[in-house]
Amino acid sequence: MGLFSSKPDMKKGDMVYAWTADQEIAKKAECGGAVTTLLKYALEHKMVDAVLVVKRGSDVYDAVPTLVTDPKDLKDTAGSLHCGTVLMANVLQKRLKGAKNMKIGMTVKGCDLMALAELAKRKEVNRDNLFLVGVNCGGTVSPIMARYMIKEKYGVDPDLVHKEEIDKGQFIIEYEGGHKGISIDELEDEGFGRRSNCRRCLYKVPRQADLACGNWGVIGDKAGKATFVEVCSDKGADLLSRAVKAGVLHSEAPVPKGIEMRQKVEGAMLKLGEKWRKKDFAKLGKDPWGMINKETSRCIKCYSCIENCPVCFPLAGAELKKSYAIAPGQVPPNPMFHLRRLSHISDSCVNCGQCEELCPMEISLALFSHAIRAEADIAFAPKLGKSDYSN
Ligand code: FAD
Ligand code: SF4
Ligand code: SF4
Repeated sequence: MGLFSSKPDMKKGDMVYAWTADQEIAKKAECGGAVTTLLKYALEHKMVDAVLVVKRGSDVYDAVPTLVTDPKDLKDTAGSLHCGTVLMANVLQKRLKGAKNMKIGMTVKGCDLMALAELAKRKEVNRDNLFLVGVNCGGTVSPIMARYMIKEKYGVDPDLVHKEEIDKGQFIIEYEGGHKGISIDELEDEGFGRRSNCRRCLYKVPRQADLACGNWGVIGDKAGKATFVEVCSDKGADLLSRAVKAGVLHSEAPVPKGIEMRQKVEGAMLKLGEKWRKKDFAKLGKDPWGMINKETSRCIKCYSCIENCPVCFPLAGAELKKSYAIAPGQVPPNPMFHLRRLSHISDSCVNCGQCEELCPMEISLALFSHAIRAEADIAFAPKLGKSDYSN
């Protein structure tokens, strides 16, 4: 891996601290505004036809996927929404025809990347038409949980919160009259905090994207003011080099201690993910069939888990709803409804959590499919690269 210093051209493996020259983006950005600036540059210079990002809607719990075609509008999409659980890969496939007819730049988390890979295998998205700017991801909090947690644990009216952030292991809120931070460990020990699939996630730095951006490792006078960017592809190297040369993005070599810290934090997050896997999967070990039966007995057969899964969505199609094994009009459906879904995704579940997040009956669906996938990964791990089984 090389460090970029004064050389203008970058290559895969290079790492930089980068910060925007655009004051409007700087005001709204989470760190250095590199993500928004790079996407803006790509759109202005017709490297992409449109940009898919998320934008704050009515409040901090409302992350709205947005397609931007006017570069001036991108400034409104800067900033991180930690209660934004939308799977960008699904938006691309379902709303934008999988980028088959246009080039799209988009912000992605690890689960988006894994979902895009599964969708590309199924010819649902055209990866060649995508420019992917990845953001490191420590996890997201479901909007419903966030409101509940802020009311119960923080003792604050969730409607008064105007900003949230995750910093140094704390979930911090700013509200009319003050601010409060509580450590994520404490929150999660008490049943609050990140979505269960995020706790188990082992994809923290999105190296399958063209660029991987985050705040880990930015120390010294640039702390909080620059974005740590790792170049992950030739396409990413080209965009970053051009934006820096054009003067829209400033950059400097990262502090070596910062690189070390970033690696350490990534390692600690992976260990934490392994810890949660052990803890969650152990719940199944006692009586898996009993647990699956008990949980799914609440099912109202709304098909949300299937429609929102980036792997088993075809089962929601009219043809496949006419199943041999599943009698129509039966609620709760017989166990084959769930077994069919589980077998369909057994070696492909990306642990995005959409099934569980969007289930109106709050069934622990992601736990079942993720446990099966994780076992397959352990079996195949020696034959695969790490990035193939980091779900
Ligand atoms: P900006 O220029 O402010 O752009 C941010 C981009 O992220 C925008 O395109 C925006 O639309 C998009 N975005 C915002 N919220 C979401 C969302 N929920 N889903 C998808 N896209 C979104 N970095 C770390 O180093 N460690 C972490 O643990 C970490 N956790 C994160 C968790 C989440 C949920 C998110 C969204 C980001 C996380 N990041 C983390 C990345 C960090 O917060 C910044 O996004 C990154 O450093 C880029 O900063 P920037 O100023 O260049 O981004
Ligand atoms: Fe982030 Fe992983 Fe959760 Fe996706 S599953 S939101 S990448 S922590
Ligand atoms: Fe049943 Fe929940 Fe799936 Fe709806 S989302 S079909 S209620 S398991």
